[in-house]
Amino acid sequence: MPLPPDLSKPVFQLFPRMADRIMANQCSTCAENVGEFKDEISAKEYSISGMCQDCQDTFFQPYNEDEGYEVEE
Ligand SMILES: [Zn+2]
Repeated sequence: MPLPPDLSKPVFQLFPRMADRIMANQCSTCAENVGEFKDEISAKEYSISGMCQDCQDTFFQPYNEDEGYEVEE
C-alpha cells in the first residue's frame, strides 16, 4: 500500500471529511475503498491527493494519441 497523504496539509484542515476518509482507508474524493494502483505514479499521486485509481483516471484524462484531447463542441 502506498503511504497516505500528510493529513497536516491545509487542504485537510479545510476539508476534514477528506481526512476522515483517508484515515478509514477510503478515497478522499469518492469515499470508496482505495484498493490497488496500476503504477508507481498513481500510488505517488495517492500520497498527495488521497484519490483512488478511478478518481485519478477521471481527473487526469489520459492523452489519446490518435485523437488528442477530447474537446467539447
Ligand atoms: Zn475515488
